[in-house]
This record gives sequence, C-alpha cells and structure tokens, in this order.
Amino acid sequence: MIPVTRPHLPARERVKRYIDGIYERQWLTNNGELVQELTRRLEDYLGVENLLLVANGTVALQVAYRALGLSRPTEGERREAITTPFTFVATASSLKWEGVDPVFSDIDPATWCVAPSEIEQHITDRTRAIVPVHVFGNPCDVEAIQRIAEKHRLKVIYDAAHAFGVRYKGESILKWGDAATLSFHATKVFHTAEGGAIIFKRREDLELARRLINFAITGPESIEGLGINAKMSELHAAMGLCVLDDIDDVIAQRHEVWKQYGHALAGSVRFQKRHPDATNNFGYAPVLLESEQQVTGLLNRLTEVNVKARRYFYPSLHTVSEYRTAQPMTTSRYIAERILCLPIYGGLPSNDMRTIVHTLISQLSK
Ligand SMILES: *Cc1c(COP(=O)(O)O)cnc(C)c1O
Repeated sequence: MIPVTRPHLPARERVKRYIDGIYERQWLTNNGELVQELTRRLEDYLGVENLLLVANGTVALQVAYRALGLSRPTEGERREAITTPFTFVATASSLKWEGVDPVFSDIDPATWCVAPSEIEQHITDRTRAIVPVHVFGNPCDVEAIQRIAEKHRLKVIYDAAHAFGVRYKGESILKWGDAATLSFHATKVFHTAEGGAIIFKRREDLELARRLINFAITGPESIEGLGINAKMSELHAAMGLCVLDDIDDVIAQRHEVWKQYGHALAGSVRFQKRHPDATNNFGYAPVLLESEQQVTGLLNRLTEVNVKARRYFYPSLHTVSEYRTAQPMTTSRYIAERILCLPIYGGLPSNDMRTIVHTLISQLSK
C-alpha cells in the first residue's frame, strides 16, 4: 500500500546512541539535556527565539491561548476567537477545550488561508483573538491580519503546524503573531513521533508557558496558578535530534515528488496559489479537482491500485455538528469538497510514483 505520507525514520544507530545517553544519565523527562539541546538546535535551524517544546501540537495551541490570557473566562463570560473552517479539527477543538468559542471566517479561494477581507465582519465585543492557519505551509496574509488585530486589540496565534522551516520574505514565518505553534506529529515534515512547539513573540509569555506546562509548579513547595502536564520527554527529543540531522534531505526528496506531480498534472487539476515571497516545505501535495464526484471517482480508482490519497481537509469544520454555524462559508465548503492530498514523502519509490501519476492522468482524462 502507498500511504499519503510515511514518517521519516532516522538511522537506528544514531537513535541508539541518544538512548544510551538517556540510560547513562537516567533522566527521562522534565526539561532534560536532550530537550534543551533540541530547543537550541531548533531555534538555530528555524531562525527564531523563545521556542518552547511541548508534548504535541494541540496542547501547544492550548498552552499558547492560556499564556496569552485567552482561556479561563470568568463565570458566565463568553469569549470568541476567529479562525478558519478549512483546517485540521485541532485548530477549533483546542479553542473549545479552553472555553473559547471558535467563530469561523471564510477562506481565500486561491490561497486556501483565511481571507483577511472576511475577518472584520465576525468581530464582536466577545472576540479576543484571531487563530489563522498557514494551510499546507502557505503563509497567510500576515500583514493584513496584523493590521486588523492591532485595530481591534486582538491577539494573534498562528496554527503553524504545517509551516516548519517555511521562510517568508527571508525570515521565519513563525515570527508572526503573538505566538505560532508547530506540530511534530509523526506525519509532519519534521517530527518527534509526538510533539510540538510554541514560538512566542515575547520572552515573558514563554516564561509563563514554561511554568504552565509543568503543573504551574514554581518550586519544590510552591504552585502558582493553574497548570497542566504538556512536557516533551527525552525519548521524543532524541527522535527529534536525529530527524533534524536529516531534515534538509527529507525536504529535498519531498520537493522532487512535488515537482513530478506539478509536471504530470499541469492542466488537469488546480493547485494552491503559493505566496510568491515564501518557501515551501513540501509537507503536502494537495490538488483541487472539478467536482466532488471527480474526487470520489479518483479515490476509488487509486484504492484499486493500493494508493491511499486523503481528503484533507474534508469536511469543512463549519458543517461538523460540534462546530456547526449558520453562516455558509461558501469557499471553504467548495474547496473542502474538491481537495485531494496525494502521497508525498521522502523515499517514495519512482515506480510507485509512476503508478500514481499514470492512474491520475488516465482517470482525470475520462
Ligand atoms: C497536525 C495538526 C495539529 C495537531 O497537532 P498534533 O501534534 O497532532 O496534536 C493542529 N493543527 C493542524 C493544522 C495540524 O495539521
């Protein structure tokens, strides 16, 4: 079976050396040596400061909301954050879990990121933040979003789960917003099996979040406020350090796959309009088909040849009962119904690639 993605597994010998070190130190978690080393190396690789490693990308969002004062409304108070319906469910569920109502704002039909022109109509006196997503690593219109946030005094937390290593106008895209969060889940471009990170704009927010992820414990006999356990373990950091050694190669291999889809499918499908001032990490290979029938037809045909493409992100979250809104979100619905993410990962064998491309071309020309 050809999966939609396959996690990069670094050389076992290198992982073993880190595991040996863990056995020698007998230190498994709580801001250990490897977590500290990975923090430094990621800040260096990404070109950012104030990076905090956490247990996964969902809790990264939740801790970011807490550290920035969004969560914990007082009794009876309603709070809202404006976000996109075209995303992985964790963007919206993390808000609801923190007691903040996600309010959807429709996306741009070309970039598939939240459309700044749609945001302001959803702002009420309950709105506290904007939570945009760099969909498939394609940067949002960060300048326009910042202008809106400043005008209405809102926090901005970017769900940058797809944007590892993406550079915008020569700098890390993760520098935008009061915070940006990453997911290091096994299926992401860079991974630690499970894991994530928050990049804060301000040092003091990082320091607060560092306390929150360790039960709000501030000393051997002191607890200040409400915390949670969201720490990364040494074993996860070891995997991350090994994957980071290989990351440029991983991205280059994904780029090759992406180029082949680009050549083979030009004219048969539509592609996401990528921001011209941004790099791509080739985390996903999304294509937009003409109709939902074409999507299901193609999915069936691909299943017959053992290829697993995926409908990311379908359904549009505004149609899911937990998050349902009366507002139509026409563009999100349109894109969600027609999107298909094709297999992409380093080491995708070229004969498998030929099978996929051949199947796509013959099915799409029907
Ligand atoms: C993967 C993902 C998350 C969640 O990250 P986990 O590490 O799996 O918790 C959040 N948002 C988006 C857009 C994602 O793709």
